[in-house]
Amino acid sequence: MSAILNTYNRKKIAFTKGKGAFLYGTNGKKYLDFVQGIAVNCLGHANNYLTKSISKQAKKLWHVSNAFIIPEQEKLARRLKQKTFADYVFFQNSGAEATEAAIKFARRYFYSKGQPRKNRILCINNSFHGRTLATIFAGNSKKATEGFGPKVDGFDHFNFGDHKGLEKSITNRTAAIMVETIMGEGGIKVIPDYCLVGLRKLCNKKKILLILDEVQCGIGRSGKFFAFEHAKIKPDIVPIAKGIGGGFPIGAVLLNKKVASGMKPGLHGSTFGGNPLAMSAGNAVMDVMFKKKFLSSVTKNGNYFLKELNKIKLKYPKIIKEVRGKGLLIGICIYKDQSKFIKRLLENNLLTVRASENVVRLLPPLNVTRQEINLGLKIIEKVCKKFK
Ligand SMILES: *Cc1c(COP(=O)(O)O)cnc(C)c1O
Repeated sequence: MSAILNTYNRKKIAFTKGKGAFLYGTNGKKYLDFVQGIAVNCLGHANNYLTKSISKQAKKLWHVSNAFIIPEQEKLARRLKQKTFADYVFFQNSGAEATEAAIKFARRYFYSKGQPRKNRILCINNSFHGRTLATIFAGNSKKATEGFGPKVDGFDHFNFGDHKGLEKSITNRTAAIMVETIMGEGGIKVIPDYCLVGLRKLCNKKKILLILDEVQCGIGRSGKFFAFEHAKIKPDIVPIAKGIGGGFPIGAVLLNKKVASGMKPGLHGSTFGGNPLAMSAGNAVMDVMFKKKFLSSVTKNGNYFLKELNKIKLKYPKIIKEVRGKGLLIGICIYKDQSKFIKRLLENNLLTVRASENVVRLLPPLNVTRQEINLGLKIIEKVCKKFK
């Protein structure tokens, strides 16, 4: 009997080690890992450069608290600023913390402008922003909120794709719209570029803030550093996490000057956030991600993967309903319950993870090779062939 609280339906496997796109099970099997800790290990398992960077830092200094200047943190913030829309960065340890801080920053901005009642956040129904009390009620799925009331107030909702519903839901109390640029847990639902452009215009017109949750789709996953860059827009606040530490827990909020003006010393904090060890991981990820051709190879491999999956879909139109995604954030929507499909893939040594709407999620490392993608395709096709 496990002493761990029973909140996960864990697969009955454990691993001894990982290397790149592969994991080695205690059962002696070698698995192709297209989960990568749910889009976390963007450089694969045990990446040499990342390992070296963390080891080097571990011998020098791990943690000092934010009562002091942390040069490694200054460096990562400066680089995020240089490469993105952001003017300022706040570091934390997880995605939920980052989205919750994004909500705080949006509210505080209007408070500082003398509009304290402008504090409601408009989100998409059944989206995912984390598992803290506030973020579950931001996501508003029955599964995540049931039994956890009283409801945390301050969130309003509209349905994905419902433009009229969105406009109608904006009131003079709305402070911000917060959406995932690509819905991950919700089933790899991509907000089209023209909608992102429209969303930005709408927020400008209504004088409210745009928060884009890039915890899953950011950090190169879509083929650009941020998924919203495809639409050439600039949000006001962006929470990130997952990929930025390459496997080390890091969360962060990126924000522009305007929103940052609402914050001052003492208003927010984190004990662990941005410690030297975590920052050495973040800086190493940035070193690799901004090497020439890294992001363009994500796009190329993503396009290839999608194209080949669509060929499999054409061969098995009764099994696969749709293939969707961007870059290496890919979902195969199947007609039946996806858990059986995922089990078959696992039996054939391919690890994948579910998402809502019968979606099988594929999250290879961003430095995956063509050969590894081909191996994955071969297994997926083999499972389709026998799937009933
Ligand atoms: C995973 C995820 C989160 C929550 O991140 P945690 O690190 O699990 O707290 C928030 N938003 C999105 C879009 C995510 O995919």
